[in-house]
Amino acid sequence: MKVGIVGCGYVGSTAAYAMVMNGVGREIVMVDLNSARAAAEADDIFHAVPFANPLQVRDGTYEDLKESQVVVLTAGVNQKPGETRLQLLARNGAIFREIVPKILDQAPDAVLIVATNPVDVMTHLTAEIAVSRGIPRGRVLGSGTTLDTARFRTLLGEHCGVDSRHIHGYVIGEHGDSEVLTWSSATVAGMPIEDYCNIIKKPLTSGIRQQIDTSVRRAAYHIISGKGATYYGIGSALARITKVVLHDQRSILTVCGLQEEVAGIENVTLALPHLVGGDGLLAKFPIPMTDEEHALLRKSAEVLRDAIQAILST
Ligand code: NAD
Repeated sequence: MKVGIVGCGYVGSTAAYAMVMNGVGREIVMVDLNSARAAAEADDIFHAVPFANPLQVRDGTYEDLKESQVVVLTAGVNQKPGETRLQLLARNGAIFREIVPKILDQAPDAVLIVATNPVDVMTHLTAEIAVSRGIPRGRVLGSGTTLDTARFRTLLGEHCGVDSRHIHGYVIGEHGDSEVLTWSSATVAGMPIEDYCNIIKKPLTSGIRQQIDTSVRRAAYHIISGKGATYYGIGSALARITKVVLHDQRSILTVCGLQEEVAGIENVTLALPHLVGGDGLLAKFPIPMTDEEHALLRKSAEVLRDAIQAILST
């Protein structure tokens, strides 16, 4: 089971490390524009193998991605001082227009997992390139709000005093400011989370909801201001998504994919709960929502549609 990682900075390298720690795949090939960085990261991670799981980890070129079942895309540039979001978008768009065809030339059957930000827009661009080559669009997915959903479940688990793996609740829409926390469909022990919290006498007051909302929505800003980048959470998420694909686990994940229509907005890529397996995106689920949550999802889809149109016209 071969996995390629293109972009071996903080996120790509942490994803590779998380794969070694969790025994995901059998071989990882790390590719970066900065080949010395890729070689150094691959060696460093490979040396963790005796303490973890038997994987081969090496650096390589695009040719070495041949026969990969999954390729993770974490290549990108960061915002320069004074640069607008759109200029950053255009620079990452240019990188993707260069690297996606190179990846697909070597690994046309791979499932591509995009993490580069803005992840919904980069996933849309990647899916369009793949579809133009006759590849089913479900083979391209983005990490979407997988991380935001994990943050939501972590905080709800803490509030309830319950293992967060037993909390079901989803963040959907944009991986970013307009994302939607779907409180109305969150459950624990088979009941709405609101009922559970009332039973344990820790009601979800509007103050607590606001606190959790801010901690989820602003997490990246907070972490980046403290240490410059976020990578453990997303690295773990990428290892998990990769495992789901490699083992055809048919898990429900809030990854993003190209949608014909969401909340009345056409041809947009955003995160929804998806069934994910060996062929990538297998199905998507409309979760029950309040009118307010539905309106917020539409707003999020509009934000993304504008960003996607902007990048497609560059
Ligand atoms: P980084 O700067 O540490 O790494 C980026 C890497 O991409 C560098 O090693 C660089 O050499 C490489 N690269 C640049 N252009 C390339 C090209 N043309 N071909 C191959 N490699 C190239 O950045 P990072 O912290 O690892 O973040 C990577 C991306 O992941 C960013 O866009 C970041 O915003 C995003 N991210 C996404 C999430 C998420 O939830 N989706 C979370 C955290 C970070």
